[in-house]
Amino acid sequence: MDVPLKRVAIIGAGLAGLSAASKLAEAGINVILFEAAPQLGGRARKVVWKGQSLDNGQHILLGAYQQTLQLMASVGVLEKNGLLRLPLALHMHESFSLKAKNLPAPLHLLFGLLSAKGLSWLERFAAIRFFVWLKTKRFKLSKDETLLSLLKRKNQPARLIKCLWEPLCLAALNTPIATASAQTYLNVLRDSFNQNKTDSDLLLPKVDLSALLSEPIAEHIKKHGGKIAVNSAVSHIEKTTNGFILNMAGKEATEFSHVVIATSPHHLHAITSQLDIATNTAFDYQPIYTVYIQYQSHIKLPNVMTGFTQGIAQWGFDRGQLCGQVGLISVIISAEGVHQTLSQQALADAVIEELKAAFPYLPSPEWHKVIAEKRATFACTADLKRPAQQTRIKNLYLAGDYTEGDYPATIEGAIRSGLSAAQLVMQS
Ligand SMILES: Cc1cc2nc3c(=O)[nH]c(=O)nc-3n(C[C@H](O)[C@H](O)[C@H](O)COP(=O)(O)OP(=O)(O)OC[C@H]3O[C@@H](n4cnc5c(N)ncnc54)[C@H](O)[C@@H]3O)c2cc1C
Repeated sequence: MDVPLKRVAIIGAGLAGLSAASKLAEAGINVILFEAAPQLGGRARKVVWKGQSLDNGQHILLGAYQQTLQLMASVGVLEKNGLLRLPLALHMHESFSLKAKNLPAPLHLLFGLLSAKGLSWLERFAAIRFFVWLKTKRFKLSKDETLLSLLKRKNQPARLIKCLWEPLCLAALNTPIATASAQTYLNVLRDSFNQNKTDSDLLLPKVDLSALLSEPIAEHIKKHGGKIAVNSAVSHIEKTTNGFILNMAGKEATEFSHVVIATSPHHLHAITSQLDIATNTAFDYQPIYTVYIQYQSHIKLPNVMTGFTQGIAQWGFDRGQLCGQVGLISVIISAEGVHQTLSQQALADAVIEELKAAFPYLPSPEWHKVIAEKRATFACTADLKRPAQQTRIKNLYLAGDYTEGDYPATIEGAIRSGLSAAQLVMQS
Protein backbone atom coordinates (compact mmCIF):
# COMPACT_ATOMS: atom_id res chain seq x y z
CA MET A 1 0.00 0.00 0.00
CA ASP A 2 1.27 3.48 -0.85
CA VAL A 3 1.92 5.71 2.14
CA PRO A 4 0.97 9.25 1.11
CA LEU A 5 3.88 11.68 1.47
CA LYS A 6 3.61 14.37 4.09
CA ARG A 7 3.11 17.86 2.71
CA VAL A 8 2.82 20.21 5.65
CA ALA A 9 1.51 23.79 5.73
CA ILE A 10 2.22 26.00 8.70
CA ILE A 11 0.13 29.14 9.04
CA GLY A 12 1.85 32.03 10.83
CA ALA A 13 5.58 32.78 11.04
CA GLY A 14 5.81 33.90 14.64
CA LEU A 15 8.22 31.92 16.79
CA ALA A 16 5.77 29.01 17.15
CA GLY A 17 5.39 28.60 13.36
CA LEU A 18 9.08 29.19 12.68
CA SER A 19 10.20 26.61 15.24
CA ALA A 20 7.71 24.03 13.93
CA ALA A 21 8.86 24.61 10.33
CA SER A 22 12.49 24.43 11.36
CA LYS A 23 12.07 21.06 13.04
CA LEU A 24 10.07 19.60 10.15
CA ALA A 25 12.45 20.88 7.48
CA GLU A 26 15.38 19.45 9.44
CA ALA A 27 13.62 16.07 9.42
CA GLY A 28 13.41 16.26 5.59
CA ILE A 29 9.65 16.84 5.55
CA ASN A 30 8.13 18.96 2.78
CA VAL A 31 7.00 22.10 4.61
CA ILE A 32 5.72 25.54 3.60
CA LEU A 33 5.30 28.38 6.08
CA PHE A 34 2.67 31.02 5.20
CA GLU A 35 2.86 34.44 6.85
CA ALA A 36 0.28 37.19 6.38
CA ALA A 37 2.70 40.05 7.13
CA PRO A 38 5.61 41.13 4.95
CA GLN A 39 7.94 40.40 7.89
CA LEU A 40 8.63 37.26 9.93
CA GLY A 41 8.67 37.05 13.72
CA GLY A 42 5.10 38.00 14.66
CA ARG A 43 5.09 39.60 18.09
CA ALA A 44 8.90 39.41 18.40
CA ARG A 45 10.25 41.46 15.50
CA LYS A 46 12.48 44.33 14.50
CA VAL A 47 11.11 47.84 13.98
CA VAL A 48 13.33 50.40 12.26
CA TRP A 49 12.99 53.95 13.56
CA LYS A 50 15.25 56.92 12.78
CA GLY A 51 17.78 54.54 11.26
CA GLN A 52 18.02 52.43 14.44
CA SER A 53 16.93 48.82 14.82
CA LEU A 54 14.45 48.70 17.67
CA ASP A 55 12.02 45.93 18.60
CA ASN A 56 8.25 45.99 18.73
CA GLY A 57 8.82 45.49 22.46
CA GLN A 58 11.86 45.18 24.67
CA HIS A 59 12.08 41.45 25.48
CA ILE A 60 13.74 39.62 28.38
CA LEU A 61 14.63 35.93 28.23
CA LEU A 62 15.66 33.66 31.08
CA GLY A 63 18.39 31.08 31.48
CA ALA A 64 15.55 28.57 31.97
CA TYR A 65 14.45 29.04 28.32
CA GLN A 66 16.06 25.74 27.34
CA GLN A 67 14.18 25.12 24.10
CA THR A 68 14.86 28.66 22.90
CA LEU A 69 18.57 28.34 23.62
CA GLN A 70 18.72 24.93 21.94
CA LEU A 71 16.88 26.21 18.87
CA MET A 72 19.22 29.20 18.63
CA ALA A 73 22.22 26.89 18.82
CA SER A 74 20.78 24.53 16.21
CA VAL A 75 20.29 27.37 13.71
CA GLY A 76 23.81 28.67 14.31
CA VAL A 77 23.25 31.65 16.63
CA LEU A 78 26.04 31.87 19.19
CA GLU A 79 24.56 32.89 22.52
CA LYS A 80 27.42 35.29 23.25
CA ASN A 81 26.76 37.16 19.99
CA GLY A 82 23.02 37.48 20.54
CA LEU A 83 22.39 37.71 24.26
CA LEU A 84 23.86 39.47 27.26
CA ARG A 85 23.74 36.93 30.10
CA LEU A 86 23.50 38.54 33.54
CA PRO A 87 23.36 36.53 36.78
CA LEU A 88 20.09 37.37 38.51
CA ALA A 89 20.23 40.89 39.94
CA LEU A 90 17.17 43.07 40.53
CA HIS A 91 17.76 46.79 41.02
CA MET A 92 14.38 48.23 41.98
CA HIS A 93 14.91 51.98 42.12
CA GLU A 94 14.45 53.45 45.61
CA SER A 95 12.89 50.28 46.98
CA PHE A 96 15.32 47.38 47.08
CA SER A 97 18.04 45.44 45.31
CA LEU A 98 18.75 41.74 45.23
CA LYS A 99 21.76 39.93 43.85
CA ALA A 100 21.88 36.15 43.54
CA LYS A 101 24.89 34.65 45.31
CA ASN A 102 27.52 32.43 43.76
CA LEU A 103 26.02 29.25 45.27
CA PRO A 104 24.07 26.29 43.87
CA ALA A 105 20.33 26.83 43.29
CA PRO A 106 18.18 27.55 45.22
CA LEU A 107 20.72 28.74 47.81
CA HIS A 108 21.87 31.43 45.39
CA LEU A 109 18.39 32.96 45.67
CA LEU A 110 17.82 32.30 49.38
CA PHE A 111 21.12 33.92 50.39
CA GLY A 112 20.44 36.67 47.84
CA LEU A 113 17.15 37.35 49.62
CA LEU A 114 18.85 37.30 53.03
CA SER A 115 21.31 39.97 51.96
CA ALA A 116 18.85 41.99 49.84
CA LYS A 117 19.10 45.72 50.42
CA GLY A 118 15.97 47.70 51.26
CA LEU A 119 13.90 44.78 52.63
CA SER A 120 13.15 44.50 56.35
CA TRP A 121 14.07 41.24 58.11
CA LEU A 122 10.38 40.44 58.31
CA GLU A 123 10.04 40.82 54.52
CA ARG A 124 13.20 38.77 53.85
CA PHE A 125 12.05 35.92 56.08
CA ALA A 126 8.54 36.03 54.60
CA ALA A 127 9.98 35.67 51.08
CA ILE A 128 12.25 32.80 52.15
CA ARG A 129 9.42 31.08 54.03
CA PHE A 130 7.23 31.32 50.94
CA PHE A 131 9.95 29.88 48.72
CA VAL A 132 10.63 27.00 51.12
CA TRP A 133 6.89 26.25 51.24
CA LEU A 134 6.78 26.21 47.43
CA LYS A 135 9.68 23.79 47.37
CA THR A 136 7.94 21.42 49.78
CA LYS A 137 4.86 21.58 47.52
CA ARG A 138 7.11 21.01 44.46
CA PHE A 139 5.69 24.27 43.09
CA LYS A 140 2.35 22.54 42.49
CA LEU A 141 -0.95 23.85 43.85
CA SER A 142 -3.82 21.42 44.39
CA LYS A 143 -6.04 23.98 42.66
CA ASP A 144 -5.17 27.10 40.67
CA GLU A 145 -6.02 30.49 42.20
CA THR A 146 -5.01 34.09 41.58
CA LEU A 147 -1.49 35.02 42.55
CA LEU A 148 -2.76 37.74 44.88
CA SER A 149 -4.95 35.29 46.80
CA LEU A 150 -2.04 32.85 47.15
CA LEU A 151 0.35 35.57 48.35
CA LYS A 152 -2.20 36.78 50.90
CA ARG A 153 -2.94 33.21 52.00
CA LYS A 154 0.79 32.72 52.59
CA ASN A 155 1.01 35.99 54.59
CA GLN A 156 3.30 37.85 52.25
CA PRO A 157 3.69 41.47 53.45
CA ALA A 158 2.12 44.13 51.19
CA ARG A 159 5.44 45.88 50.55
CA LEU A 160 7.13 42.62 49.52
CA ILE A 161 4.27 41.93 47.10
CA LYS A 162 4.61 45.41 45.62
CA CYS A 163 8.44 45.39 45.34
CA LEU A 164 9.14 41.78 44.42
CA TRP A 165 6.29 39.41 43.60
CA GLU A 166 4.20 41.86 41.54
CA PRO A 167 7.00 43.15 39.26
CA LEU A 168 8.06 39.55 38.61
CA CYS A 169 4.47 38.62 37.78
CA LEU A 170 4.07 41.52 35.35
CA ALA A 171 7.38 40.67 33.68
CA ALA A 172 6.65 36.96 33.40
CA LEU A 173 2.86 36.72 32.93
CA ASN A 174 1.97 40.25 31.73
CA THR A 175 -1.16 39.93 33.85
CA PRO A 176 -2.13 41.84 37.02
CA ILE A 177 -1.60 39.81 40.21
CA ALA A 178 -5.26 40.16 41.12
CA THR A 179 -6.19 37.90 38.18
CA ALA A 180 -2.91 36.12 37.25
CA SER A 181 -2.66 32.34 37.47
CA ALA A 182 -0.67 31.43 40.58
CA GLN A 183 0.16 28.00 39.11
CA THR A 184 1.68 29.42 35.91
CA TYR A 185 3.69 31.88 38.02
CA LEU A 186 4.96 28.98 40.14
CA ASN A 187 5.93 27.08 36.98
CA VAL A 188 8.19 29.98 36.03
CA LEU A 189 9.66 30.19 39.56
CA ARG A 190 10.23 26.41 39.58
CA ASP A 191 12.10 26.44 36.28
CA SER A 192 14.09 29.60 37.04
CA PHE A 193 15.12 29.21 40.65
CA ASN A 194 15.03 25.59 41.64
CA GLN A 195 17.47 23.58 39.53
CA ASN A 196 20.58 25.24 38.11
CA LYS A 197 21.90 28.59 39.23
CA THR A 198 22.13 29.75 35.60
CA ASP A 199 18.39 29.12 35.03
CA SER A 200 17.65 32.43 36.74
CA ASP A 201 20.12 34.37 34.59
CA LEU A 202 18.59 37.26 32.71
CA LEU A 203 19.26 37.05 28.97
CA LEU A 204 18.90 40.42 27.26
CA PRO A 205 18.98 40.63 23.45
CA LYS A 206 22.11 42.43 22.19
CA VAL A 207 20.77 42.48 18.62
CA ASP A 208 17.24 43.09 17.34
CA LEU A 209 14.78 40.21 17.71
CA SER A 210 14.65 39.49 13.98
CA ALA A 211 18.44 39.11 13.82
CA LEU A 212 18.39 37.05 17.02
CA LEU A 213 15.61 34.63 16.12
CA SER A 214 13.36 34.85 13.06
CA GLU A 215 16.01 35.55 10.40
CA PRO A 216 18.45 32.77 11.36
CA ILE A 217 15.58 30.30 11.88
CA ALA A 218 14.18 31.22 8.43
CA GLU A 219 17.62 30.71 6.84
CA HIS A 220 17.82 27.31 8.51
CA ILE A 221 14.39 26.32 7.20
CA LYS A 222 15.35 27.27 3.64
CA LYS A 223 18.73 25.55 3.91
CA HIS A 224 16.86 22.32 4.72
CA GLY A 225 14.50 22.62 1.76
CA GLY A 226 11.53 24.28 3.51
CA LYS A 227 9.72 27.18 1.83
CA ILE A 228 8.51 30.47 3.32
CA ALA A 229 5.82 32.66 1.73
CA VAL A 230 5.32 36.13 3.24
CA ASN A 231 2.37 38.40 2.34
CA SER A 232 0.32 35.20 2.29
CA ALA A 233 -2.71 35.47 4.56
CA VAL A 234 -4.68 32.23 4.73
CA SER A 235 -8.38 33.16 4.71
CA HIS A 236 -9.78 29.72 5.57
CA ILE A 237 -9.06 26.00 5.51
CA GLU A 238 -11.28 23.34 3.91
CA LYS A 239 -11.16 19.65 4.76
CA THR A 240 -10.80 17.23 1.81
CA THR A 241 -10.69 13.44 1.71
CA ASN A 242 -6.90 13.35 1.79
CA GLY A 243 -6.07 16.46 3.71
CA PHE A 244 -6.74 20.18 3.66
CA ILE A 245 -7.05 22.99 1.14
CA LEU A 246 -5.66 26.39 2.13
CA ASN A 247 -7.40 29.39 0.58
CA MET A 248 -5.61 32.71 0.12
CA ALA A 249 -6.92 35.81 -1.64
CA GLY A 250 -5.39 36.13 -5.13
CA LYS A 251 -3.51 32.83 -4.84
CA GLU A 252 -4.25 29.35 -6.09
CA ALA A 253 -5.74 27.06 -3.45
CA THR A 254 -3.28 24.29 -2.55
CA GLU A 255 -3.73 20.90 -0.86
CA PHE A 256 -1.70 19.68 2.11
CA SER A 257 -1.67 16.45 4.11
CA HIS A 258 -1.08 18.20 7.47
CA VAL A 259 -1.66 21.72 8.73
CA VAL A 260 -0.28 23.50 11.80
CA ILE A 261 -2.13 26.72 12.62
CA ALA A 262 0.38 28.94 14.44
CA THR A 263 -1.52 32.22 14.54
CA SER A 264 -2.68 33.91 17.71
CA PRO A 265 -6.12 32.78 18.92
CA HIS A 266 -8.03 35.83 17.66
CA HIS A 267 -7.13 34.84 14.06
CA LEU A 268 -8.02 31.19 14.56
CA HIS A 269 -11.77 31.52 14.39
CA ALA A 270 -11.86 32.94 10.83
CA ILE A 271 -9.32 30.44 9.49
CA THR A 272 -11.18 27.45 10.91
CA SER A 273 -14.74 28.74 10.35
CA GLN A 274 -15.49 25.78 8.02
CA LEU A 275 -14.04 23.16 10.37
CA ASP A 276 -15.45 21.84 13.59
CA ILE A 277 -12.43 22.06 15.88
CA ALA A 278 -14.50 23.09 18.93
CA THR A 279 -11.61 24.96 20.49
CA ASN A 280 -11.84 27.85 22.89
CA THR A 281 -10.57 30.96 21.10
CA ALA A 282 -12.20 33.44 23.47
CA PHE A 283 -9.11 34.74 25.22
CA ASP A 284 -8.68 38.07 26.93
CA TYR A 285 -5.55 40.02 26.10
CA GLN A 286 -3.13 42.29 27.90
CA PRO A 287 -1.09 45.13 26.38
CA ILE A 288 2.62 45.92 26.59
CA TYR A 289 3.88 49.42 25.86
CA THR A 290 7.52 50.16 25.13
CA VAL A 291 8.72 53.77 25.27
CA TYR A 292 12.06 54.41 23.55
CA ILE A 293 13.75 57.62 24.65
CA GLN A 294 16.87 58.94 22.93
CA TYR A 295 19.16 61.13 25.05
CA GLN A 296 22.55 62.56 24.11
CA SER A 297 25.06 59.80 23.45
CA HIS A 298 27.05 60.21 26.69
CA ILE A 299 23.96 59.54 28.87
CA LYS A 300 23.93 56.27 30.82
CA LEU A 301 21.78 54.67 33.51
CA PRO A 302 23.51 53.16 36.56
CA ASN A 303 22.47 49.62 35.53
CA VAL A 304 21.61 47.87 32.26
CA MET A 305 18.18 47.10 33.71
CA THR A 306 16.40 49.05 36.46
CA GLY A 307 12.99 48.33 38.00
CA PHE A 308 10.54 51.03 39.08
CA THR A 309 7.60 50.49 41.40
CA GLN A 310 6.22 53.97 42.10
CA GLY A 311 4.72 55.26 38.83
CA ILE A 312 3.91 54.20 35.28
CA ALA A 313 7.37 52.99 34.18
CA GLN A 314 8.14 49.42 35.25
CA TRP A 315 11.53 48.46 33.79
CA GLY A 316 14.10 50.67 32.10
CA PHE A 317 16.93 49.34 29.90
CA ASP A 318 20.08 51.21 28.94
CA ARG A 319 20.49 50.13 25.31
CA GLY A 320 23.90 51.79 25.14
CA GLN A 321 25.25 49.26 27.66
CA LEU A 322 23.11 46.50 26.16
CA CYS A 323 23.56 46.80 22.42
CA GLY A 324 25.69 49.86 21.70
CA GLN A 325 22.74 52.20 21.02
CA VAL A 326 24.29 54.95 23.11
CA GLY A 327 21.94 57.27 24.95
CA LEU A 328 18.87 55.18 24.08
CA ILE A 329 16.68 54.03 26.98
CA SER A 330 13.75 51.67 26.55
CA VAL A 331 11.03 51.54 29.17
CA ILE A 332 8.50 48.72 29.46
CA ILE A 333 4.99 49.05 30.83
CA SER A 334 3.34 45.64 31.06
CA ALA A 335 -0.34 44.78 31.48
CA GLU A 336 -3.40 47.00 31.73
CA GLY A 337 -3.33 50.28 33.65
CA VAL A 338 -3.90 53.98 33.71
CA HIS A 339 -1.26 54.51 30.99
CA GLN A 340 -3.75 53.15 28.43
CA THR A 341 -5.90 56.25 28.93
CA LEU A 342 -3.05 58.60 27.93
CA SER A 343 -2.14 59.78 24.43
CA GLN A 344 1.26 58.51 23.26
CA GLN A 345 2.71 62.02 23.77
CA ALA A 346 1.30 62.27 27.31
CA LEU A 347 2.57 58.78 28.13
CA ALA A 348 6.07 59.59 26.84
CA ASP A 349 6.06 62.87 28.80
CA ALA A 350 5.04 61.04 31.99
CA VAL A 351 7.76 58.40 31.57
CA ILE A 352 10.41 61.03 30.77
CA GLU A 353 9.40 62.91 33.93
CA GLU A 354 9.60 59.74 36.05
CA LEU A 355 13.07 58.96 34.71
CA LYS A 356 14.17 62.52 35.45
CA ALA A 357 12.84 62.22 39.03
CA ALA A 358 14.80 58.96 39.44
CA PHE A 359 17.98 60.22 37.73
CA PRO A 360 18.05 64.02 38.01
CA TYR A 361 21.13 64.30 35.73
CA LEU A 362 19.04 63.30 32.68
CA PRO A 363 18.70 66.16 30.16
CA SER A 364 15.74 66.67 27.80
CA PRO A 365 15.65 63.86 25.29
CA GLU A 366 16.21 64.27 21.55
CA TRP A 367 13.26 62.11 20.51
CA HIS A 368 10.96 59.39 21.77
CA LYS A 369 8.92 56.61 20.20
CA VAL A 370 6.03 54.76 21.84
CA ILE A 371 5.15 51.28 20.56
CA ALA A 372 1.84 50.02 21.92
CA GLU A 373 1.12 46.33 21.44
CA LYS A 374 -2.49 46.17 22.56
CA ARG A 375 -2.78 42.40 22.27
CA ALA A 376 0.76 41.65 23.36
CA THR A 377 -0.16 38.45 25.20
CA PHE A 378 -3.20 36.50 26.28
CA ALA A 379 -4.25 37.30 29.83
CA CYS A 380 -2.75 34.43 31.82
CA THR A 381 -5.56 34.16 34.36
CA ALA A 382 -6.26 31.54 37.01
CA ASP A 383 -7.90 28.32 35.77
CA LEU A 384 -7.61 29.30 32.10
CA LYS A 385 -8.40 26.43 29.73
CA ARG A 386 -5.83 26.43 26.94
CA PRO A 387 -6.39 24.28 23.82
CA ALA A 388 -4.24 21.22 23.12
CA GLN A 389 -1.93 21.17 20.10
CA GLN A 390 -3.76 18.13 18.74
CA THR A 391 -7.20 19.23 17.48
CA ARG A 392 -10.10 16.83 17.15
CA ILE A 393 -9.45 16.75 13.36
CA LYS A 394 -6.78 14.29 12.31
CA ASN A 395 -3.57 15.93 11.00
CA LEU A 396 -4.68 19.43 12.02
CA TYR A 397 -2.65 20.95 14.87
CA LEU A 398 -2.38 24.21 16.78
CA ALA A 399 0.78 25.96 17.88
CA GLY A 400 1.29 29.30 19.61
CA ASP A 401 2.12 30.68 23.03
CA TYR A 402 -1.55 30.35 24.07
CA THR A 403 -1.81 26.57 23.53
CA GLU A 404 -1.66 24.04 26.34
CA GLY A 405 1.58 24.20 28.28
CA ASP A 406 3.34 25.19 31.46
CA TYR A 407 4.38 28.64 30.38
CA PRO A 408 2.71 32.03 30.04
CA ALA A 409 2.86 33.90 26.70
CA THR A 410 6.60 33.96 26.17
CA ILE A 411 9.16 33.20 23.51
CA GLU A 412 9.87 29.92 25.28
CA GLY A 413 6.15 29.03 25.40
CA ALA A 414 5.77 29.76 21.66
CA ILE A 415 8.85 27.74 20.72
CA ARG A 416 7.87 24.79 22.92
CA SER A 417 4.42 24.72 21.31
CA GLY A 418 5.89 24.83 17.79
CA LEU A 419 8.33 22.01 18.50
CA SER A 420 5.64 19.89 20.07
CA ALA A 421 3.25 20.43 17.11
CA ALA A 422 6.10 19.40 14.77
CA GLN A 423 6.63 16.29 16.87
CA LEU A 424 2.94 15.38 16.50
CA VAL A 425 3.17 15.82 12.71
CA MET A 426 6.23 13.56 12.59
CA GLN A 427 4.53 10.89 14.73
CA SER A 428 1.32 10.87 12.70
C1 LIG B 1 5.63 44.06 23.40
C2 LIG B 1 5.88 42.63 23.74
C3 LIG B 1 6.80 42.30 24.73
C4 LIG B 1 7.03 40.98 25.05
N1 LIG B 1 7.97 40.67 25.98
C5 LIG B 1 8.34 39.39 26.16
C6 LIG B 1 9.47 39.07 26.97
O1 LIG B 1 10.10 39.94 27.56
N2 LIG B 1 9.82 37.76 27.09
C7 LIG B 1 9.15 36.78 26.43
O2 LIG B 1 9.57 35.62 26.53
N3 LIG B 1 8.06 37.05 25.68
C8 LIG B 1 7.65 38.32 25.53
N4 LIG B 1 6.58 38.63 24.72
C9 LIG B 1 5.75 37.52 24.20
C10 LIG B 1 6.34 36.85 22.96
O3 LIG B 1 6.78 37.81 22.02
C11 LIG B 1 5.24 36.02 22.33
O4 LIG B 1 4.77 35.10 23.31
C12 LIG B 1 5.68 35.22 21.12
O5 LIG B 1 6.40 36.01 20.22
C13 LIG B 1 4.42 34.66 20.45
O6 LIG B 1 4.76 33.89 19.33
P1 LIG B 1 3.64 33.08 18.55
O7 LIG B 1 4.32 32.43 17.40
O8 LIG B 1 2.88 32.23 19.48
O9 LIG B 1 2.58 34.16 18.01
P2 LIG B 1 2.76 35.40 17.03
O10 LIG B 1 4.09 36.01 17.22
O11 LIG B 1 1.57 36.27 17.23
O12 LIG B 1 2.72 34.77 15.56
C14 LIG B 1 1.54 34.56 14.84
C15 LIG B 1 1.82 34.89 13.38
O13 LIG B 1 0.69 34.48 12.60
C16 LIG B 1 0.52 35.41 11.55
N5 LIG B 1 -0.85 35.27 11.04
C17 LIG B 1 -1.99 35.63 11.67
N6 LIG B 1 -3.06 35.33 10.86
C18 LIG B 1 -2.55 34.77 9.73
C19 LIG B 1 -3.16 34.25 8.55
N7 LIG B 1 -4.47 34.25 8.38
N8 LIG B 1 -2.34 33.73 7.60
C20 LIG B 1 -0.99 33.71 7.75
N9 LIG B 1 -0.36 34.21 8.86
C21 LIG B 1 -1.14 34.73 9.84
C22 LIG B 1 0.80 36.75 12.25
O14 LIG B 1 1.07 37.76 11.31
C23 LIG B 1 2.00 36.38 13.12
O15 LIG B 1 3.22 36.61 12.43
C24 LIG B 1 6.30 39.93 24.40
C25 LIG B 1 5.36 40.28 23.42
C26 LIG B 1 5.15 41.59 23.09
C27 LIG B 1 4.15 41.93 22.02
